[in-house]
Amino acid sequence: MTGHGVSPGLACAPLARMTPPVVTDPDEAPGDNPGHEVQRVRQALAAVAAQLSTIAAGGTAGAILEAGAAMASDPALVQAAAHHIGRGMPTAHSLSLAIDAYCAQLEEAGGYMAERAADLRDIRNRAVALLMDVPMPGIPRPGHPFILAAEDLSPADTAQLAGSDVVGLLTEKGGPTGHTAILARSLALPAVVGCPQAAALPDGTPVLLDGRAGTVEAHPSPQRRRQALEEARTRTQPRTKGPGRTADQHAVALLTNIGTPADALRAAQADNEGVGLFRTEFLFLDRREPPTLEEQIQAYSQVLTSFEGRTVTVRTLDAGSDKPLPFLQLPREDNPALGLRGLRTATLRPGILETQLKALVTAQRRTGARMRVMAPMVSTAEEAAHFAGLARSHGVQTVGIMIEVPSAALAADRLLQHVDFASIGTNDLAQYTLAADRTSHALSHLLDPWQPALLNLVAKVCGAAEALGRHVGVCGEAAADPLLAPVLAGLGVSSLSMAAPAVAAVRDALAQLALEQCRSLAAAVLDAAEPAAARATAQEMGEAFRAAAHDREGL
Ligand code: PEP
Ligand code: MG
Repeated sequence: MTGHGVSPGLACAPLARMTPPVVTDPDEAPGDNPGHEVQRVRQALAAVAAQLSTIAAGGTAGAILEAGAAMASDPALVQAAAHHIGRGMPTAHSLSLAIDAYCAQLEEAGGYMAERAADLRDIRNRAVALLMDVPMPGIPRPGHPFILAAEDLSPADTAQLAGSDVVGLLTEKGGPTGHTAILARSLALPAVVGCPQAAALPDGTPVLLDGRAGTVEAHPSPQRRRQALEEARTRTQPRTKGPGRTADQHAVALLTNIGTPADALRAAQADNEGVGLFRTEFLFLDRREPPTLEEQIQAYSQVLTSFEGRTVTVRTLDAGSDKPLPFLQLPREDNPALGLRGLRTATLRPGILETQLKALVTAQRRTGARMRVMAPMVSTAEEAAHFAGLARSHGVQTVGIMIEVPSAALAADRLLQHVDFASIGTNDLAQYTLAADRTSHALSHLLDPWQPALLNLVAKVCGAAEALGRHVGVCGEAAADPLLAPVLAGLGVSSLSMAAPAVAAVRDALAQLALEQCRSLAAAVLDAAEPAAARATAQEMGEAFRAAAHDREGL
């Protein structure tokens, strides 16, 4: 069976299904007092909002769950359910109908919006379980390691995975940018999503899933089981520690991507060299007004303090397109991914960027932290120069830009003259290079970080940076792939930034090859005709280099 491999690694275990949500009955007797029934709906939704906020213990899941709690608190849901109750429908079914109608609208909108439908369905299932007084749908507890199978996973389900016996995730629906994919990567759990055939597998079936290739085998052979267990052992028990180094001690800094202060606390406990991408949007989510200067100073200080002694790379607000932030009141556009987003929003609301820079510099001075600041979605040398001038005028000492647009990569020699460093956002760079919407399930093969066109642009940026003596990092999903890490190092990338749990496997992968070998891999991969060939080349060459090293050690 095949789906989308969204979080690498092999996992082998019996399958266990989620406790299914209860189906509401339209023929159930309606409540006697419609006013009272509407009040029950209101209370059930409020209880779900409170539940989601409680589960939101922090981290990537935390931000998503807080957004879910805000959705559950939307009075429009109660109003829509009240409409059906008023027509004499039973209470739980009324809420179900109301939420299904919203889900249909979101799905019709497509892309990012469609993927939010899973969050809303989770709210429906929880509220309906409360209204009908039946067990809450959720994660099974079979008492042994298992692969969790589900139609789709909600952020609340996925947030409860840490600490359970789950070793892999398999869903019938979902795409590469859905929450299941993001959270699976942040928990370093192998995952395959969008695999409709998984519905036919009975509970308890032994399954092997490959979260890189996107394949699923039922009843794997003993040899395949051994292979999966060995891979899981090496993945979860890193062989190396400390700063990122190739076998011959060439430094490649291993950094983390964080999104909230809670993420920062968790990542700060882990073995890494700092933060390569602090996504500051969390502070601005679900707001009608931007956060105040003081509020921002507090939040940034907290993050900077938790990484004391290590560098924190902060990205200024990256709003628009796949990161809609309502308070900005961006004009409606036909193509928001090509519109006012990232740094471009500062032309519309310059005060927001200025306040953010002021807050960052104040936080840095108060904490004495090592901080770098970079702008997202920079397209031209003029924009790079303008941002650098503005950031420096506020007192930022180390200024950078993200390279996420092909024009920025192609003209990197000009853009980099104005700044101290660059960080390549391969998620957006893939989207714009291959003209493939990053939220589209159907186009995930084009968004593959092994696309030769994308890697050629990375090489171009590295060449320009080397000539100017600038550092270049990668902070998109590509940085978390242990097979790609030596290739990126060989291209000249000097730091890799990823979800904290991905660091160990990348560190191990780098430690096995010398810089010159990484360069040979990079040259071969740049020559490959398509992603599968590029991967196969890197795999084969890497194995040959490692085998030769073993032979030498044996002598
Ligand atoms: C990227 O585009 O690769 C990136 C790191 O930024 P984001 O995923 O937040 O757009
Ligand atoms: Mg981006």
